[in-house]
Order: sequence, then C-alpha cells, then structure tokens
Amino acid sequence: MEEDWKRCFGPVFKLLLPWYKQNKRSLPWRETCDPYQIWLSEIMLQQTRVEAVKPYFINFLMKLPSVSHLAKAKEETVLKLWEGLGYYSRIKNMQKAAIMIQEEYNGTFPVTAADWEKLPGVGPYTSGAIASICFDEPVAAVDGNVLRVASRLAAFHEDITTAAVKKSIARAISSSMSEYPAGQCNQALMELGATICIPNGTPLCQNCPLTSVCEGFTKDTAGLFPVKTEKKKRRQEHRVLFFCTFQGRIALRKRDANGLLAGLWELPNCQAEYQEDTILSALDDWGMHPQSICRLKDRKHVFTHVEWQQSLCAVAVDRVETHSPFLFLTPEEISKTIPLPTAFKACYQEGLRHFQASKD
Ligand code: SF4
Repeated sequence: MEEDWKRCFGPVFKLLLPWYKQNKRSLPWRETCDPYQIWLSEIMLQQTRVEAVKPYFINFLMKLPSVSHLAKAKEETVLKLWEGLGYYSRIKNMQKAAIMIQEEYNGTFPVTAADWEKLPGVGPYTSGAIASICFDEPVAAVDGNVLRVASRLAAFHEDITTAAVKKSIARAISSSMSEYPAGQCNQALMELGATICIPNGTPLCQNCPLTSVCEGFTKDTAGLFPVKTEKKKRRQEHRVLFFCTFQGRIALRKRDANGLLAGLWELPNCQAEYQEDTILSALDDWGMHPQSICRLKDRKHVFTHVEWQQSLCAVAVDRVETHSPFLFLTPEEISKTIPLPTAFKACYQEGLRHFQASKD
C-alpha cells in the first residue's frame, strides 16, 4: 500500500507549490515561522474554522506574546482568552507544555517532530506542522484536508481514516517532499483541501493544479471520495440550566477537575427533563430559596460524543444558605474575569437579558 501512496504523491509537489505561491490565502500565522505563533495557530485551528480563529489568534498574541508569557499566565486569564473557541483541553495542554518548555527545556523549543510530540496536546499532525514550517523538517502533517485530497488523488475505496492508512500516507508525503521546502508542501496540501478539493460537495477540479495526476478526476469519480464509515450516533442528554439571581448577582461555580468541561465555570444545572418538582429539589440541594421561577427558551448544545437538550429557567432567589456550592458574581465580574464555555454562554446571555428586562 505504501508504494502506491508514494507513486500517488511523487509528482504532486512540483505541480502544487507554484499554485500555492500564487493562490494562498493571506492569514496572520502565515507571516511568521516563530514556533510559538505557529504552534498556537495549529492548536486553535483544530476543530475550529479559519475565520473564527483569526481574531482569537491576534488577541491572544497581544495579551500573551511569547511562550514565557503563556507559562506564567494565570489559568483563568488564559481560559478567558479562549472563551468561545471551545475544546478547552487544547489550551490547558498548551499551557502545561509551555511550562515544560520554560522549566525543563530552559525556554528552548524542540526542533524535531518527534520531540514536539513529547509535549502535552501535541500529536502527529501538530508536530509535523510545526517541525516542517518552523524547522524545515521533511515530515508530513496529515489532517482531514490532506486525507480528503489523498483519497481523491488515489480514488481510494477504503476507509481513509484508519491509523494504518494515515501512517502510510504520512510516510509517502514525507518522502515526496524531500526536495522541496517542507513547510510549504504541508501548507500547500492543506490549502488545496480547504479551498479547492473541498469537503461536503463537488471539488473545484477546474481550478486544481493536480488534475493530470488525479485518478478521481480522470475517472470522473472524485465526488465519491473520501469513503467514510458511518459515525456512532451521539448520546442525547436532557439538562435543566438555571439562571439564578440573588441581590443583583448571578450564581456560578467551577466544574469538577475531571470529565466534560473539566475545571471550567458553569451555571447551576442538572441532568433531568424540565419538571417543577425536579427544579425545586435541585434548588433545595443547592441551598437556594426561590421567589419566582420562569421558564425561558430551550436550546441544544452539541459536543463530540453527547448532545445536551437544554431547558433554561430564570430563578429570582430570595435567600441563600451558607452551604450553597455557588458563588454569586455581578455581570461585570463575569464578563471581565470568568471564562464561560460555549455550552453555557447562550443560556447565560438569555438569562441576563431576561434579568435586565425584569429590572426595567
Ligand atoms: Fe481534488 Fe479535483 Fe484536484 Fe483531484 S483534481 S485533487 S479531486 S480538486
């Protein structure tokens, strides 16, 4: 199989690099080879669209411009800068890795992909991207874009996402880039996948520099690839979220250090369908005595493996017992210092609108 992939990628970079030079999008992280900036961009771009990442990338670097700034920053500050991007374990791992670089590597970045992979949160894709872009190591960075391009180039009828296939593709790409600038090769493949050999639809073959070597194009079957095995359905979970106010302050707390959204802030919530007795019993457990309860709009929040069907209620609290596990903070304190994950953000904002309207 590996020989087939090598034949497939052999002629690719000679055709692809001139196209990339002419057509690449101007992106903030393409202005630099600084490992910290490239690393940050690659971590942000995992699971997140380019357009969404741009403002976060610029703002993050303004506040934490180097790996030593990131290593020294308070976790709350870092999470606040990440607020809205989701998948918070990405930045928690990056901060752990920044601390390791400062404390164990004397502030010096690893140079090879193999050494980058020793850091928390850095897998084969990210290590390949950083080592090739910043240190010109001829090593592939295989993401979903690259796999899609590969599957169409080779008209590959099997599942492209298995570990064995990915490794074969990575080795074939690495050996095909040895005569070219490695970082440009990886970025060019990803760019082609993102802008021409696009997902969820017909690839724009008329604008592609690889038609002469693409089996999917020559056989007119490109639209059939990549072949995907059916994904497991997400688990559905009903949750009631509470926007509880007491003396102009809003109830929040930090989640457990393990599990989903570990260590992040949350509105009071419980796994249940919306029912009056459930709500009253949860409030009682939390030491909150309600003056009024008002049901607001239902929502849905989708995680990778679970989907929350969220019911939201606004609770005006009359009295709070000292054992309550929640902190009551002003809206100003929350907006300045508390990173609220997206799973709670929309409900928080709706609760806040309701609360402010009820004061007017
Ligand atoms: Fe993708 Fe079409 Fe280019 Fe083949 S020719 S790589 S299918 S865009």
